[in-house]
Amino acid sequence: MNDCLFCKIAKGEIPSDVVFEDDDVKIFKDIHPKAPIHYLIIPKAHIQSIAHLEADHNDIIAKLIYAAKREAEKAGLKGYKLSFNVGKEGGQEVDHLHLHVLGGW
Ligand code: 5GP
Ligand code: ZN
Repeated sequence: MNDCLFCKIAKGEIPSDVVFEDDDVKIFKDIHPKAPIHYLIIPKAHIQSIAHLEADHNDIIAKLIYAAKREAEKAGLKGYKLSFNVGKEGGQEVDHLHLHVLGGW
């Protein structure tokens, strides 16, 4: 995916404020935060959206959600919102799957 913004962030070709990274996922701060803490959690491999999931993506989805739990805990959040926007009609602006973590109000 040559011109995908979040693929470029995943590879470090575009800088981001990185919170956590391993071989499969990257967590970085949203550039326009909608909460005191607003992280984006992405798979490093390109998946367009939840609507494009296939059965063999189950492991990576579980990883994204577990990473959200772990980083929310590290940030000291007692409660938080997790959301996936799906498709243009669902408010998705970047066509690379990402989980929003919002909290700290
Ligand atoms: P969506 O609307 O697709 O669910 O969310 C995309 C999110 O990505 C938005 O909250 C937006 O602020 C964030 N975003 C867009 N471009 C960049 C960028 O270049 N860097 C970072 N860190 N966040 C971005
Ligand atoms: Zn991508």
